[in-house]
Amino acid sequence: MQLKDTGEFGFIDRIEPLCKIHSPDVLRGIGDDCAVIGVSPELNLLVTTDLLVERVHFLLDWQSAQVLGAKALAVNLSDIAACGGEPKDVFVSLAVPDHVEINWLENFYRGMSDLGDSFKVSILGGDTTRSLTDLIINVAVTGLSKKGETLLRRNAQPSDIIAVTGYLGDSAAGLELLNRSLKVPESLSSPLIHAHLSPYPHLLEGQALARSNACNAAIDISDGLSSDLGHICKQSGLGATIFEAKLPVSEPLKRLAGQLAIDPLEWVLNGGEDYILLAAIKPDRFGEIRLRALAEGWVLIEIGVFDSTPGIKLVKISGETISIIPGGWDHFKSEEPSGQI
Ligand SMILES: [Mg+2]
Repeated sequence: MQLKDTGEFGFIDRIEPLCKIHSPDVLRGIGDDCAVIGVSPELNLLVTTDLLVERVHFLLDWQSAQVLGAKALAVNLSDIAACGGEPKDVFVSLAVPDHVEINWLENFYRGMSDLGDSFKVSILGGDTTRSLTDLIINVAVTGLSKKGETLLRRNAQPSDIIAVTGYLGDSAAGLELLNRSLKVPESLSSPLIHAHLSPYPHLLEGQALARSNACNAAIDISDGLSSDLGHICKQSGLGATIFEAKLPVSEPLKRLAGQLAIDPLEWVLNGGEDYILLAAIKPDRFGEIRLRALAEGWVLIEIGVFDSTPGIKLVKISGETISIIPGGWDHFKSEEPSGQI
């Protein structure tokens, strides 16, 4: 049996019993956006890490070194955002093949550094070695969150409103444009490819949700809405109902789908790497938090509701209700670059 048979989540299920926790300070190990470790009476330490491999997650000619550097950091900052934390320190390890030059690596660090500066995070170290084949990038980020205000995946409650903090599916459509070289006007392809290559971590949103005391659970959409909502459902012991009519679809995505005569729903439900947040909000607080978000310059969009019936249900625009099987990206099962980090 290989990783492509079990998939990433099947693999995690198998190794989790082997990752024993020996310290009572560890509040959350494997299975959330960050590991959570109590470090003082007031604060939790958050730790997250991601691996990017050339030809599995990206191709070098898709983007400049600076853009890839910023993305390698952004996807980790997004996990800190999902826990409602403030990012602090960054560690970067690289396995570098001969076809990647020093100048490229400097620009990669410039991209990380520019994004890191805007969130006041510091690059503190890492490791560098030679690779015989592909470029391999590992970024780890630490952060801090207040005790009692750390967002996890497992505390959603029945009747909580399911809300997202941005558009769904743009990144997956951008990846499709990169993979397939589809002939569409640049005014359409450009914003979607930008969504895929340059995600912006929703740290402001995560911290505001954590402070609100109205958010019972959160996750960032990295694997796709159906998978990531599935993670919250599984860990909270709940089901969910989402409404097609409420799913936020951007104008460029609607226009691209129209041009290609396809339904964008597949990208919206199963596309990965939107790096927006999905949150479970107490129903009696939702209206107030949504208005506060607008005043602060971000959005909270209701797409459904958690319930006690197992599984994810989608109410179509036609009124028909269908079951959704989590079908987001799992790069162990994919032959071409998934972009998924
Ligand atoms: Mg995540």
